[in-house]
Amino acid sequence: MIPVNEPLLTEADVASVTDALRSGWISGSGPYVETFENRWAAYCGRQHGIAVANGSVALQVAVSLLDLQPGDEVILPAFTIISCAWPVVLAGATPVLVDSDPRTWTMDVAQVRDRMTPRTRAIMPVHIYGNPVDMQPLLDVAHQFGLDIVEDAAEAHGADYRGRRVGSFGAASCFSFYANKLVTTGEGGMVLVDDEGLAERARRLRNLGFQPGRRFLHGELGYNFRLTNIQAALGVTQVERIDAIVERKRAMGRAYTRRLSEVAGLELQVEQPGARGVYWMYGVLVQETTGLDAAELARRLSARGIETRPFFLGMHEQPALRERGLFAGESYPVAERLARQGLYLPSSLGLDEGQIDRICEAVCEALR
Ligand SMILES: *Cc1c(COP(=O)(O)O)cnc(C)c1O
Repeated sequence: MIPVNEPLLTEADVASVTDALRSGWISGSGPYVETFENRWAAYCGRQHGIAVANGSVALQVAVSLLDLQPGDEVILPAFTIISCAWPVVLAGATPVLVDSDPRTWTMDVAQVRDRMTPRTRAIMPVHIYGNPVDMQPLLDVAHQFGLDIVEDAAEAHGADYRGRRVGSFGAASCFSFYANKLVTTGEGGMVLVDDEGLAERARRLRNLGFQPGRRFLHGELGYNFRLTNIQAALGVTQVERIDAIVERKRAMGRAYTRRLSEVAGLELQVEQPGARGVYWMYGVLVQETTGLDAAELARRLSARGIETRPFFLGMHEQPALRERGLFAGESYPVAERLARQGLYLPSSLGLDEGQIDRICEAVCEALR
């Protein structure tokens, strides 16, 4: 079986983690945490990085920084992971959805203005599968109406848009360092900001709301979302080779696209002009005319030794959100089609051209 995604760790990673263990700094404080924060923030062109336990809580911290009130609204894509909608709901605010662009699979930015109301506070773009969202129209609308952008760059380490690195576009931008992400700490995440005050607040939120000055003094309620020094040690060596990681992912993307772009019955993810994605996962959409859906294609590929994963199921189709009265009667046809017809192919860093050949041959067979 060719696995859908396997981390590729090096001796340098092992040495770094071993060093952290030997140093005795094994909790959420220790020198690797700050080094990791500084290096990742610098790579993304940001002033401050706040490392946290995972990407989902990075989004939770970023959304907390908005101080949403009940009735406030945040616009986000229907086609994403629950980690985007959940912190908005937890804050007592309302997630408002837009559909995806049928070619890029990222949020259709042209729909944002239609979904805005006087209660709109923020927009949350998500760079789906490493493909950057068309940010300029969002930046324009945010500027015009005084909205904040919370950027979910959890799948897009090293991607860029109009010469600017992804993760540099939000008042707060979020990354995940889960095992299958381009940079991994096993579990982990980070919030990036430029504003010093926001950075201090995010640090307090990460650490139970402890106030500086006196220990066990809490000015506001926070969480324990700390990343350990052991995990950060892994992050530091991963960031050191980020250029090679990004290049390898792009080569994988090119290799798949070369082999699959002419295959009848398939649609591939398209990049926005000015955007360069990183192919966190290489997705394909199987057209209905083939008589197949993604589940059937996945079964056929599995029988040929190829592991795949289904796409996200839209937020408006999630029982956990619908039972709270959200999204009643709403439909997002592109997101619904992606969820039923889309899957991603093996996308590990260690994948070689021979394996990509084999996978693409299996895809062609499965479509026949
Ligand atoms: C992975 C991911 C997250 C959540 O990250 P975790 O570290 O798994 O909590 C959030 N958003 C997107 C788009 C992701 O792909």
